Amino acid sequence: MAQELLFTQPVFHGKIWGGRKLHDEFGYDIPDGPVGECWAISAHPNGDCLVGGGSYDGRYLSDLWQNERQLFGDAEGDRFPLLIKILDAKENLSVQVHPDDAYAAEHENGSLGKRECWYVLHAEPGAQIIVGQKAKNREEFAQMVEEGRWDDLLYQVPIKAGDFFMINPGTIHAIKAGTVILETQQSSDVTYRVYDYDRVQPDGTKRDLHIPQTLDVVDFSLVPPASGAVATPQIDGVTELGKCPNFEVVRVRVTSDAPVTLRQDHPFMCVSVSAGEGGSVKTPAGEWKLVKGSHFVAPAQSGDLTFTGTMELICSWVPAE
Ligand code: ZN
Repeated sequence: MAQELLFTQPVFHGKIWGGRKLHDEFGYDIPDGPVGECWAISAHPNGDCLVGGGSYDGRYLSDLWQNERQLFGDAEGDRFPLLIKILDAKENLSVQVHPDDAYAAEHENGSLGKRECWYVLHAEPGAQIIVGQKAKNREEFAQMVEEGRWDDLLYQVPIKAGDFFMINPGTIHAIKAGTVILETQQSSDVTYRVYDYDRVQPDGTKRDLHIPQTLDVVDFSLVPPASGAVATPQIDGVTELGKCPNFEVVRVRVTSDAPVTLRQDHPFMCVSVSAGEGGSVKTPAGEWKLVKGSHFVAPAQSGDLTFTGTMELICSWVPAE
């Protein structure tokens, strides 16, 4: 029997760099104050999503992963592997780097490392991001940090809506002010902060920095991208954005005269409506209304997904080995 779609209820995180766009642009009911992150599809303990509606209404995604593994094609692993976020950066995020799986397992209580990727939903004119750094080795990096030579050290790239960036473990990076992105990442919350613009929080303290860990994990062999422009073609509404061992990400554009059907032959697929008026998705198990800001997991037995309406979707799954 075809399985119904699992619509997730986002979890919101207040951040000193956040804004109000998650309410103003996406219509979410968010807490007061600056809110930076919407954890849209997550089974991570720091923001586990409830499923809303249907047979699994009111159950956490982590619970379904642990106890209803057939929904995920009996995929292996002790935790749901992906985490989908929307980030509203009204101010600059800290300059940071994430470890790979091996380093995180050893130094962060068995956590996963973190590979992430960004699809730019909105960028103010002149917006930039930091992706990569210019030091040749650990010693040079340490010296530039010590001397506060951030402009010499950090590699900046101008961005526009529709850009895509793969951020591998070991890449120095920061989302900067005036940017809204949809992030697809490994389900990990391990961040090493190397620079926070000397900002002070409302309680008068500064956020912790993690310079020794940063020096351990920066990959000095990585070459920064010249831009985030997407060069792959759009075929039947679908554009491949990025593929790595942890996830594959596509953008789907649905227009009123061009519905799109996606084969769902993966153990599971994460789907987010990132822009547009909305519409609906139909499967052998039913039909659901979609609006900008809807998120769901299509389980293993969902059957194919047919989208009608006017909207942009970002979809991801774990590639077969
Ligand atoms: Zn990051």
